[in-house]
Amino acid sequence: MTTYFSYPSPALQDELRQIANAIVAPGKGILAADESTGTIGKRFSDIGVENTDDNRRRYRQLLFTTDKEIGNYVSGVILFHETLYQKADDGTPFVKLIQDLGIIPGIKVDTGCVNLMGAEGESTTQGLDGLSERCAQYKKDGCQFAKWRCVLKIGKNTPSYLAMLENANVLARYASICQMNGLVPIVEPEVLPDGDHDLDRAQKVTETVLAFVYKALNDHHVFLEGTLLKPNMVTAGQSCATKFTPEDNARATVTALQRTMPAAVPGVTFLSGGQSEEEASVNLCAINSFPGKKPWALTFSFGRALQASVLKAWAGKPENIKAGQDELLKRAKANSLAATGKYVAGSIPSLAASKSNFVKAHAY
Ligand code: 13P
Repeated sequence: MTTYFSYPSPALQDELRQIANAIVAPGKGILAADESTGTIGKRFSDIGVENTDDNRRRYRQLLFTTDKEIGNYVSGVILFHETLYQKADDGTPFVKLIQDLGIIPGIKVDTGCVNLMGAEGESTTQGLDGLSERCAQYKKDGCQFAKWRCVLKIGKNTPSYLAMLENANVLARYASICQMNGLVPIVEPEVLPDGDHDLDRAQKVTETVLAFVYKALNDHHVFLEGTLLKPNMVTAGQSCATKFTPEDNARATVTALQRTMPAAVPGVTFLSGGQSEEEASVNLCAINSFPGKKPWALTFSFGRALQASVLKAWAGKPENIKAGQDELLKRAKANSLAATGKYVAGSIPSLAASKSNFVKAHAY
């Protein structure tokens, strides 16, 4: 093993660092709107909307034509491939609508999970073939960052060494390919909340998974200052009998990050992982309020916890577009406050604030 390698050019380092820092600017975070066609179909079926390309386009148009106030809270939006090339009713490309709000477009580049042989329901994530060419095209088409999600499961014998090693390595390959093409990689190793494990077990698993990830990123010469981490918050399993407070979750989450995440990384953009909208905001606020060393921004990249109320308010009806956008603004503002430790629990009610968004073995 040699330690010889070349750093990216100073110009590329500056470009990547600047994009990553803009995404985690104080009080700002990401709207994850990159649901695959199947996943958005499940969301639509809950509100009685048919999963057609035009309904998907109309829904995303609602999101991207929200009042420009959204740009005070949201710095980036993650898109699914189809959405990147869709247009509003008046022909304006979605990318332009997003940029005009002062928001940075990003793209999901993985192609989903597949089972690992001999592992207990564990997976790796596919999408490396042709990735460099796709990233180059996405950059030309206005994207500045990308996302790739890997999934780890907590069970009696999991996550296995194989799953942690393989998922860390594929995340590092993805990250290096993004950086070569000028995209900031959001590195997402999600430890699922399924199970009855307690908070300590969730913390230890998250620490071990993150330790594998940062070893692999180092092995692959990834420029950490031009990356972001998108982890789960550390919470007890969804069916754990013991209940933990937001402060317990914050201690476990910040401790896990302190032990594993280099200070060179500009920020953490947490996924919401099935928490209700309100839980996700309260936990994010507790994480930011937790005393101790936190040398990175700690903010949101929520999918379900930013869209549950929007979907409910919209219900597919043109007359409800404004109501849906108002819900988005409320949750975005709540999470912006939470990202600076200033959200007061219950202070911003929204239509589906307390509804659990848990989905068993969630696929994205
Ligand atoms: P949730 O916030 O719904 O967990 O999704 C975020 C995401 O992008 C998962 O990949």
